[in-house]
Amino acid sequence: MTTLFIADLHLDPGRPQITALFENYLASDEVRHADALYILGDLVEAWVGDDDDAELPRRIARAIRAVNDAGVPVYFMAGNRDFLLGEAFARRAGMTLLDDGTVHDIQGRRTLLMHGDLLCTDDVAYQAVRQQVRAPQWKAQILSMPLEARRAFAAKAREDSRAHTGSTMESIMDVNDGAVAAAMRQAGVTRLIHGHTHRPAVHPFVLDAKAAERIVLGDWYEHGSVLRVTGAGVELRGLATG
Ligand code: MN
Repeated sequence: MTTLFIADLHLDPGRPQITALFENYLASDEVRHADALYILGDLVEAWVGDDDDAELPRRIARAIRAVNDAGVPVYFMAGNRDFLLGEAFARRAGMTLLDDGTVHDIQGRRTLLMHGDLLCTDDVAYQAVRQQVRAPQWKAQILSMPLEARRAFAAKAREDSRAHTGSTMESIMDVNDGAVAAAMRQAGVTRLIHGHTHRPAVHPFVLDAKAAERIVLGDWYEHGSVLRVTGAGVELRGLATG
């Protein structure tokens, strides 16, 4: 009995070996025998809309649908790179969309699931942009643009993101401990799983006199990274490219 978590794959046509690793992993016995697979955001480097007819989204849909068809439920929570991913693609891929901040029972333990960017409250500039682009009106306006214009827009957004990341202090781009405690307290949990920061680790700490832990998923830039949760505990593991 194992539940699997991945995030921050940043799948992109420019890194075909990582796309292949993703496809191979989803076809593996570990995934096909899991209780569930959770993808906690930034599955792709950029998402321009569910109507994108490029090869990558088709391959992703095929790989995920095969997992679902094998009887393993797949859950997807949007990250800051793929928040335009919607119900149409989720249906095509056979996965269930989750809101950021969902609480699920994972192997007998109530667990708060987040992408992680909402916890980075010290990055005030980022949070302001996030609020703007997540507004339904803004999303509708972007999605009404022609596909080519959206692709150009996404490329520009990636440039801006790189410039911001390059000029912002490391500590500001990590989670804020107060925001973590507040989110877990509000959800009434002692375990949180998130991605986004690309700092894979298990952080035990004390929350209101109770043992708590925050588990951070790793990114897939150089190799894969997966979290396995069983009734006995958690394990973060790397996946080598073929
Ligand atoms: Mn992210």
